[in-house]
Amino acid sequence: MNPTQLPPSARLKLDLMFHGIHYTEALGQAAGHAFPNYYPYRFQPGEHDPTGKGKAPIPYALSLADGTVIRIKGSGDSPWGVSGDRTSGYRLGQVGQPDIPVEFVPLPRWMGAQTSDGFAMARTGLELLGDLGVINLAPGCEYFLHKQDGVSMRCGFCAYGAPDERVAHLGQKIHQVSLPDLTYTRIGETLEAALAEGGVRQLYLVGGSLTDWREEGQRYLEIARRIQAVNRHRLPLSCGSGALPLDIMRQLRDENLVDNVCFNLEIWSEPLFAKICPGKHRYVGYARWIEALEQAVGLWGRGHVYTAMVAGIELEPEHGMSWEQAADLALEGAEALCARGILPVYSLYWPVGGRDHPEYMSRLRNYFERLNLGYHGLRRKYDLHISDSFMTHRCAFMQMECDLDRLMAD
Ligand code: SF4
Repeated sequence: MNPTQLPPSARLKLDLMFHGIHYTEALGQAAGHAFPNYYPYRFQPGEHDPTGKGKAPIPYALSLADGTVIRIKGSGDSPWGVSGDRTSGYRLGQVGQPDIPVEFVPLPRWMGAQTSDGFAMARTGLELLGDLGVINLAPGCEYFLHKQDGVSMRCGFCAYGAPDERVAHLGQKIHQVSLPDLTYTRIGETLEAALAEGGVRQLYLVGGSLTDWREEGQRYLEIARRIQAVNRHRLPLSCGSGALPLDIMRQLRDENLVDNVCFNLEIWSEPLFAKICPGKHRYVGYARWIEALEQAVGLWGRGHVYTAMVAGIELEPEHGMSWEQAADLALEGAEALCARGILPVYSLYWPVGGRDHPEYMSRLRNYFERLNLGYHGLRRKYDLHISDSFMTHRCAFMQMECDLDRLMAD
C-alpha cells in the first residue's frame, strides 16, 4: 500500500520550500561563509531591516541533522527563522516549537580561485548543487531565437537559456557545435581544483539546445570527451542534453563517456508538451523524445535513464486543471515511464510573478505532496532506484524523490 504521509523531515522540507525563512542577523552572518543564494533577501515594506539597505545576501541552502538539504527562500511572511552562530551552531525554529540544529551548505575555496590565465573559476561553467557539479559550457539555447506564428520556441518556464552577453565569456557561438579550446582549458583547471578540494560526488552536463538534435548530440560528445579527459572517470558523469539520435547515444555508450542520461521531457502528455515546450516538440517531437528515452534504457539499463519534469506547471490557469487532475495526470505519466524503465525526477515549479497567493500555493503544495507520495509507491512497484551516480538527497534541493526513498526505506 502507498504511504499517505510524508516523514517529518520531508514535511519540514516542503514547509520551507513553500513558506521560506524570514531574515535574522544569524542568517545574514551565515552568508559570510555559506554558499551564496542567487537571490538576495528583499525586505518587505515595514519589515525590520537591520542592514538598512532593503536587501541582503543570504545562504543558498541548509541541511538538517539527518542530511535533508533544503533550499532557502527568503520570505518576510515566514514563521521560520534561524538563530545562533558559526561557533555555537545554528538553529532553525518558529515561535512555540522546539528549535532544531541546522548547518549551511558551505562555500568551497575553489569558487574564490582563478585559472592560470587569471579567469575566475566561478565563471568557467561549473556550478555546485550540494554534491553535484553541474557543467554548463554552452548555456545559450537556440529555441530562444526562433518563432513560429509569432510564438517563441523556448520552453514556457525557461528564464535561463537566453543566448545573451551573460554567456559570452564561455565563447559559445550560435549555430556552431564546437566550443573554444580556452573554454575547455579553464573548465579543466576548475574541475581539477574542485575534485582536489572534495565534496563533489557526481557531475552533470547541461546546456542550451540546438535546433538540430544531431548537432546537439555532437556537441555533447565533444564536451563529454573533454570532461572525461580531466575527470578520468573519477566521478560519475551524466548527460543532461535534449533527446538524442540513436547513433549518437551509441557513441556516448561505446566510448563509455557517461554513466547516466537525462533527457528532460518536462511534462507528461503530448498536448501539454506542445504548449509548454514548443521548441522541443517542433525540433524533436514528443513521440521521438519518448522513443529516445526507451532506446537509452536499452543502452544504459534501467535506473540509468532519467527525465526531469517541471512539477506543477499544469496548474497555470491557461491549462484549466484542478490540482487533483494535474496530480493524476502526472502520476499516469510516472507509471508509463517507470514501466519503460525510465525515472522521471520532479522539480517543483515556481509560478511566475503574481500567482504567489495562498490559494494557488496551497493547490501547488497538495499537488506536489500527492505526486511525490504516489511516485514513491511507483518506484517500489517497478523496483526502480535513483542511482547515487546520478543524484542524491544532498543535491536535490527542489526535489523530494531521494529524501522519500531514504527516509521511507523499510
Ligand atoms: S530547451 Fe527549454 S528549458 Fe532548455 S534551455 Fe532551451 S528553452 Fe530552456
